[in-house]
Amino acid sequence: MATSQLPRMAFFKDRIMPYAEAKVGLLTHALNYGTGVFAGIRGYWNAELGKLLVFRLADHVRRLHESARLLRMHLGLSEEATARAVLDLLKAENLREDCYIRPLCFYGDEVIGVRLHGLTPILGIVAVPFGLYIDKADGAHCTVSSWRRPSDNVIPARGKITGSYANSAFAKSDAELAGFDEAILLNQDGYVSEGSGENIFLVRRGLVATPSLNQSVLEGITRRSLVTLLRDELGLTVEERPIERGELFVAEEIFLTGTAAQVTAVTRIDHRPVGSGQLGPVTDRLRKLFFDVIRGRADKYRAWCTPVE
Ligand code: PMP
Repeated sequence: MATSQLPRMAFFKDRIMPYAEAKVGLLTHALNYGTGVFAGIRGYWNAELGKLLVFRLADHVRRLHESARLLRMHLGLSEEATARAVLDLLKAENLREDCYIRPLCFYGDEVIGVRLHGLTPILGIVAVPFGLYIDKADGAHCTVSSWRRPSDNVIPARGKITGSYANSAFAKSDAELAGFDEAILLNQDGYVSEGSGENIFLVRRGLVATPSLNQSVLEGITRRSLVTLLRDELGLTVEERPIERGELFVAEEIFLTGTAAQVTAVTRIDHRPVGSGQLGPVTDRLRKLFFDVIRGRADKYRAWCTPVE
């Protein structure tokens, strides 16, 4: 992880305060039972404009509210007000560099008893400077994890629920400690789902494929953005369908996508080269396009970038 610096400020409950004052108690429900939802959003510094541009803010806020609904949680403020809170926090934090924004909504009751009802959520938001998440973005070595993604009837993967990330942590640590850069998890049916914190795409014979949203994957906002760019800008066909593990080994290109990982090329899986074993042409073109879009350099997609005024 690229960050170690603590935030200066936090949005906590309903106002902005010094980060050091935004504290919770040991009995906090979400800390004990994983009953929180969160978002991970990137802000990109645009030096020409002298402004921070927040990528797909409204979409991240919508998914945060939808994730909350999965937990019977009512944030108590509208999507517009949540987005405004993110922008207010960014203004207070005054970052003039690329950053990662973490809204977290969690059951803050200090009580014993696992449940989802009769609890009160707290909203917190912080932002920290942030660079690369996966160091080898040009060529990561992944492993197919022995851990499986929880199915929709275990914990819905479509939402960003804090408790689900214990599953990601099992997979990520086993992968890293075995010398890999990232884990690829299969779902309960044995099909490819996603990375520990990324959606996955493959390219084969001129077609692009990514697991459909019913394959135990997070409804990734980078995923959705890239499907649009692949179809509308690169003129490629993108299939959203179940993907078998074996397809990973015959793919010409594979890449992982996410707010943190952006577009990370996977050039080896379990010690086998993916295609040529080098960064492939589709991934390369897509990354260049994506980097222009997120920095606000592509007029057509400027609406995806919200400036912090
Ligand atoms: N899958 C998982 C499990 C994730 O944690 C993330 C990161 N939020 C993603 C996919 C990618 O989602 P997004 O593009 O919305 O960041």
